[in-house]
Amino acid sequence: MNDREWLHNAVYAKRDSYAALNDEIHGYAETSFEEYRSAAALIRVLKEEGFEVREGLADMPTCFTGTAGSGRPVIGILGEFDALDGLSQEAGVPVRKPVKEGAPGHGCGHCCLGTASLAAAAAVRDYLEAHHLSGTVVYFGCPAEEGAGSKQFMARAGLFDDVDFVYTWHPSTTNDVSADCTTAIMGANFEFTGISAHAGGSPWLGRSALDAAELMNVGCNYLREHIRDGQRIHYAYSDAGGSAPNVVPDHVKIKYEVRARTVAEVKKLFERVTKVARGAAMMTETEVRIDLTMAFSDFRNNSVLAETASACLEEIGAPAWDEEDYALARAFLNSYEPVQKEAIIKELAETWGQENLAGILEKPLHSGVKPYDSSKAEYEGGSTDVGDVSYAAPTCEIHTAAACMGNIGHTWQMAAQAGSRIGHKGLMTAAEAMALACIRMAADPEKIRLAKEETLKRNGGKYSCPLPDSVMPPVGKY
Ligand SMILES: [Zn+2]
Repeated sequence: MNDREWLHNAVYAKRDSYAALNDEIHGYAETSFEEYRSAAALIRVLKEEGFEVREGLADMPTCFTGTAGSGRPVIGILGEFDALDGLSQEAGVPVRKPVKEGAPGHGCGHCCLGTASLAAAAAVRDYLEAHHLSGTVVYFGCPAEEGAGSKQFMARAGLFDDVDFVYTWHPSTTNDVSADCTTAIMGANFEFTGISAHAGGSPWLGRSALDAAELMNVGCNYLREHIRDGQRIHYAYSDAGGSAPNVVPDHVKIKYEVRARTVAEVKKLFERVTKVARGAAMMTETEVRIDLTMAFSDFRNNSVLAETASACLEEIGAPAWDEEDYALARAFLNSYEPVQKEAIIKELAETWGQENLAGILEKPLHSGVKPYDSSKAEYEGGSTDVGDVSYAAPTCEIHTAAACMGNIGHTWQMAAQAGSRIGHKGLMTAAEAMALACIRMAADPEKIRLAKEETLKRNGGKYSCPLPDSVMPPVGKY
């Protein structure tokens, strides 16, 4: 039996309990920093597996690690488990059916993510032990990926300093190790304070915080003309200053997020946005308080880890889909609104070729593995706190299909599939691929050296957090 077969057996022997763990977390559907029951479920299984657990790390109650084995290499595996607001949805049901109206749901499939990573960590530990090999496995329980993030705080606290390499994965519509990059991001609250007055009787005595926020938005929308392609500025009011037009609003809070290719670029863009905010405050004779609340570094896969993982994934192959899976995937694909479905079909035809479209629509689950191609690196619009791990230690994220082809993320359709037979199969393949990649890397000290060399070149010798030390995890505040 080779390493792949050994790990396959180890992971699949516990298939039912991993499906149950996924479904348990799917049912909890807790948002950023509120993931107490989800973290407890993962910790319970880690302890059952004999991992030593440390909780409440880096000033976050739901951040934890589980460690097993001993000696080098130190192998890190990242698990996420937070849900998204408003996406409550019954598992496996291809029509909109919230479990509880307005409640959160796993629209990014992080129930699968945390579970598969745990399955991989347990299998790697079992393999090292059974073969009398040296190696320490660390499962990193990372909260709040959908909110303010946690991994930048974990990296700042030095949790990855002693780790030789890190694998993670994300539920996707395809099986691949991508060369694409995600952008760096910075987020802040801008709080304007003015003076209230009767808007009809004595407006000259008032100073409007709402005017200031609106002028900031106008200024930033003009700023867009003079920023680089691919950079992003977006905002939302968290306090619009009240609902009475006859009162000059003396308080307004607006949340801004800016994105750019690198931390250095995003810091410059953020600085320009703060200048606009200060200008708006000056114009309106109000005060502005700027609270930097979150920042993630940009992410790209470590090429050594990515090549290793891609070869493993190709060896393992796609999840073994059957007719029942295809029927369910078709139902999900057909559940999208006509305008979305039209765009999905157009994109599928562009990506996979018009000649393959009919076959894909008949069996809309990815049944192959897209090879890793470092020459095809593109920037995605999104951001992830995995970026910070990638600056602290060699890091690679694998994708496996846990949803129908063309599926849109952060939707009730994703939440439904994450708790379905499709999600279950996707997470098992992810666990197998991560475990095999870990074992192959652990067996090759030269590859570990090369992977580290690449990371050191990227981070200039050491991880540097995009947030100042004064910014603490905004537990309960973001
Ligand atoms: Zn996600």
